[in-house]
Amino acid sequence: MKKTLFLLISLACMSAAIAQKTILHCGTLIDGVSDKPRQQMSVIIEGKKILEIKPGYITPAAGDKVIDLKTQTVMPGWMDMHVHLESQTSKTAYSDQFTQNPADLAYVSVRYAERTLLTGFTTVRDLGGSGVNIALRNAINKGLIIGPRVFTAGKSIATTGGHADPTNGYRKDLMGDPGPEAGVVNGPDECRKAVRQAYKNGSDLIKITATGGVLSVAKDGSSPQFTEEELQAIVSTAKDYNMKVAAHAHGAEGIKRAIRAGVTSIEHGTKMDDEGMALAIKHGTWYVPTITAGRSVADSAKIPGYYPDIVKPKAESIGPLIQQTFAKAWKKGVKIAFGTDAGVYMHGRNWLEFTYMVESGMPAMDAIKSATIKAAELLGMEDQLGSIEAGKIADFTAVNGDPLKDIQAMGQVSFVMKDGLIFKQGTSNLSTVQK
Ligand SMILES: [Zn+2]
Repeated sequence: MKKTLFLLISLACMSAAIAQKTILHCGTLIDGVSDKPRQQMSVIIEGKKILEIKPGYITPAAGDKVIDLKTQTVMPGWMDMHVHLESQTSKTAYSDQFTQNPADLAYVSVRYAERTLLTGFTTVRDLGGSGVNIALRNAINKGLIIGPRVFTAGKSIATTGGHADPTNGYRKDLMGDPGPEAGVVNGPDECRKAVRQAYKNGSDLIKITATGGVLSVAKDGSSPQFTEEELQAIVSTAKDYNMKVAAHAHGAEGIKRAIRAGVTSIEHGTKMDDEGMALAIKHGTWYVPTITAGRSVADSAKIPGYYPDIVKPKAESIGPLIQQTFAKAWKKGVKIAFGTDAGVYMHGRNWLEFTYMVESGMPAMDAIKSATIKAAELLGMEDQLGSIEAGKIADFTAVNGDPLKDIQAMGQVSFVMKDGLIFKQGTSNLSTVQK
């Protein structure tokens, strides 16, 4: 009896809460779909969803809450398609792996997730960590901690000695021979097993390292590291579990193999040549450039002792190329989704990618779309995320100033709402757990 009464009271409270609407009075509205911003608009939110968009500043009904964003530019919540929430670049990053337990990673990842959300990013793809990123996603979804909506790959899949083999550079007796359970594979059978293991672990998608990488303790940063057969085994198995595949790839050959095998996105794509770009267009493959990471590793390489000797030349030579590849790919019409590789540089600076995109010739409106509706399309979530339209999830990021005139305004985030809940308003970060 007591239980029933409690349930009834809870239900009554819930319906009262749902009936209350939140109205955003938006000075400028960029909705993620139209190329033209609209002035003086009202967005009406009920619960987690956008109910209506109306011209003018509508008068609220009794009990409704109004948020004054009349001097702001309001956009759909931004989406970064390439982050690593478990870690952040530092001089000690390479020795940290011998001293940090999963619980240590978990505590820092909470801070990085919070910072990501409060700087305007309401959705991210976490493209590889130890697996703590899966628990992080779950904790955010449960409302235990604050962070963006996370789609995580769990642990990246690599070949032996490849980028993301977790024991690269270890002393031989510590190196061992990690297998598919640790995300290290050789041959199509192990590829299938690693994908199934990732599914079992709770990953939302698969990340592979199709070529060498900059920051791994290994000599080559660009050559292919999977055979076509292995790539096909990964993509077809991932498809069975309704998972998309993101492929880290710097070198031209590895990029082409990954595209031909049917991956959803090429990450970095540093040495993508004309043939690779044409293939990406033909297959509808997304390109996630991560210019910020390229510039940041090139800068860090200038600091003596920041990277191991084997990493430094790769950071110097590969890093600066990404921006020009991006400029070319954009001109040619390759589909581009916003991604930064946050963690390779300091979390919270993801917005800099907008400035680098614009610097490379992309109009500001397209840069904004790459981080909203285009990113939602990459995720296959465009029916729920990525634009300000009736029926979609109420995710918003607002900035002071006009980013279409000065892209630096993207660094002036003044308001963040995710799932209809306010996490930042004005100068106050509402960084307490809200549910
Ligand atoms: Zn990455």
